[in-house]
Amino acid sequence: MQLRFVGCGDAFGSGGRANTCFHVTGERVNFLIDCGASSLPALKRQRVACDGIDLILITHFHGDHFGGLPFLLLDAQFTRRTRPLVIAGPDGIETRLAQVREALFENSSKTTPRFDLRVVALAPRMTQSFGAVNVTPFPVVHGESGGPFLGYRIEAEGRVIAYTADTEWTETLIPLGRDADLFIAEASTYDRPVKNHLSLKTLEMHLAEIKPKRLILTHMSDDMLERLDILPYEAASDGLVVEI
Ligand SMILES: [Zn+2]
Ligand SMILES: [Zn+2]
Repeated sequence: MQLRFVGCGDAFGSGGRANTCFHVTGERVNFLIDCGASSLPALKRQRVACDGIDLILITHFHGDHFGGLPFLLLDAQFTRRTRPLVIAGPDGIETRLAQVREALFENSSKTTPRFDLRVVALAPRMTQSFGAVNVTPFPVVHGESGGPFLGYRIEAEGRVIAYTADTEWTETLIPLGRDADLFIAEASTYDRPVKNHLSLKTLEMHLAEIKPKRLILTHMSDDMLERLDILPYEAASDGLVVEI
């Protein structure tokens, strides 16, 4: 399998990076993890065929993770997509998706798509299968609005990808990420504590318990981006493709 960091930025466009959007492809899978506001242009810039995507997993309803869906769905309509699409995310996703679509493109949520569009709410700790993708959501901690908040442990083609999403430290990140082939962790700051987010130093204190086989840092603010050259870990960049 391959994972492409289509966008790995935060909500502030730090470093000129696109909002969060990861694209996973394999022999039997083709899905996105998150679809932030700038995802459609980022996908097109990186020549990802949007009509091949079967599933979009959303971690929470902040614009830098969720705000790209109205654009993606409008594009699907205009390019006459026929392939079915599943969008799955936290409880309330059906209402939140309709609201954001109406806010950005009036009446777009009322038009019946030409393709089969299914919107699915995921319950924490309940594994759900979408074709060859098995998804276990874990509750994470990210403030008062924009939730519920989920991180994901995803099993597909014999590999495990884990993604913290946006969160402050919470013990659920241990079963979420344990022994994962690829653990993608937010590291918004280096050592400065920021409410509702994870600093690299906090994450480091728990890495021995999580024991990921590979760690890649994402969602970095300028505080982290300034230190990229001296970090002892792999860090994401827009367009980076990794084999899992
Ligand atoms: Zn974010
Ligand atoms: Zn967020």
